Amino acid sequence: MFNLAVILRESAKAAPGKPAIRHDGGAMSYAELDALSDSAAEGLAARGIQPGDAVGLQLPNIPEFVVAYFGILKAGAVVVPLNPLLKAREVAYCLGNSRARALITWPPAAEEAVKGAAEEGITEVFVVAGAENPFTGLLKPARARRPIVPREGSDTAAIVFTSGTTGVPKGAELTHLQLYMNADIPGRLFDVRPDDIVLTILPMFHVFGLSSILNVSVRFGCTLSLVPRFDATAALEAIERDRVTIFEGVPTMFVAVLEQPELDRYDTSSLRVAISGGAAIPAHVLDAFEERFGVTILEGYGLTETASTTTFNISADERRAYSVGKPIWGTETEIWDERGNRLPPGREHVGELVTRGFHVMKGYYGQPEASAEAMAGGWLHTGDLGYVDEDGFFFIVDRKKELIIRGGYNVYPREVEEILYNHPAVAEAAVVGVPDARLGEEVAAYVSLRPGRTVTEPELIPTAGIAWRATSIRATSRSAMRCPRRPTARSPSWSSPLPECFTPV
Ligand code: ATP
Repeated sequence: MFNLAVILRESAKAAPGKPAIRHDGGAMSYAELDALSDSAAEGLAARGIQPGDAVGLQLPNIPEFVVAYFGILKAGAVVVPLNPLLKAREVAYCLGNSRARALITWPPAAEEAVKGAAEEGITEVFVVAGAENPFTGLLKPARARRPIVPREGSDTAAIVFTSGTTGVPKGAELTHLQLYMNADIPGRLFDVRPDDIVLTILPMFHVFGLSSILNVSVRFGCTLSLVPRFDATAALEAIERDRVTIFEGVPTMFVAVLEQPELDRYDTSSLRVAISGGAAIPAHVLDAFEERFGVTILEGYGLTETASTTTFNISADERRAYSVGKPIWGTETEIWDERGNRLPPGREHVGELVTRGFHVMKGYYGQPEASAEAMAGGWLHTGDLGYVDEDGFFFIVDRKKELIIRGGYNVYPREVEEILYNHPAVAEAAVVGVPDARLGEEVAAYVSLRPGRTVTEPELIPTAGIAWRATSIRATSRSAMRCPRRPTARSPSWSSPLPECFTPV
């Protein structure tokens, strides 16, 4: 019998007075978090939520998220994290597909959320957060140390929706044991310590923030420094104010922090390490960040389906720059060709990354066919292309679906992007394939420029080392092209978790 929520109970026993959360100059201790989440579990149970029921959790990075998350788990229910920017139709889709019975949201999202919940016949909607009564209706005083509802390790703890870049969003069922292991093992490998203060700027409703930040920090009794939405200034302020030791982010965040005009005003000397994941970090960003902050960036790789970490560079001494590291302890990752043969090490042997072990999801909720396809033969087929070197370090080349086949030649968008980034005028670049009558596909680049810089297509195309027609390069203004991820790959109707979710709501 097991419940992921034990990570909180244990940390609260070990150091009750220690801040679990720092936010906006305030703090919440482990004892307070434990007691408040007990009351949330009591409140949910009083409203009829049974073990195994799914509960939508649609909050940004505020203390109420953490309280409600552990409250749902302690009640034995299943957390369904949702982006606060979702529209009613999207809320309804996720609640309906996870068969949720209740929703916890906050005032700025309430109108759309209530509409979406109503479409699915859900009436238990708790609108929490706000200065006067942060937990309106959700909390019910519980006796001290309310027993945590026991679950099996293989029971579902969370249903996390993929953002839908490969079709409609699918709800990955993540189990109690999977999430526990994916907090415990990476945390140990990476030497997370109780005195660490972890910048929590990645949204906790996304698997990276949920598993690699929230669960890891609580498992090891660290302090979460919450930043409700991404903004480089807010990140720097939190680092200085809370004496943050670990910076975890996606590449966009590293870029934004480096470009903050008043960067030198902030005291960032408390940082001891940075972790990047979620997308490939461009080489020049990694180099510039390390030089400016004097800390090593450890890059990792993972997916919603693997509760985040799959491969990881575990320490500054052992890391390999530009690699996503090695499989975490107790798991296997290999490179396969299209016929399912394992490929040998070497840059010339690019194939699909497949992985198996405790870190892999149970399946996609309610989608047996999609689950069987994704996990054929007991291996999760990630859809990512890469290779492994002689020492066992993995390198991601691109997503299988984003490979451009131009006149029969394979072009990896990421390689072209890397070259474009070398041009001094380029702030962000995204390369995609577009249909072409002669070649099948042509390479197109979307580029945003650094402030005050100009560049022409004929200047940029030779920079990229490509002789392709000028018409396929489009320079866009910074405001028109804010997201460095590939624009055609994502369904426009869905709010992507990264990085648009940080837009003010
Ligand atoms: P989908 O809907 O297709 O599952 P998604 O964006 O929702 O897409 P996520 O689980 O959020 O999926 O992201 C996982 C993907 O992010 C990986 O499959 C990989 O393509 C990419 N990724 C994660 N880490 C890295 C990294 N370090 N380098 C390159 N790509 C990475």
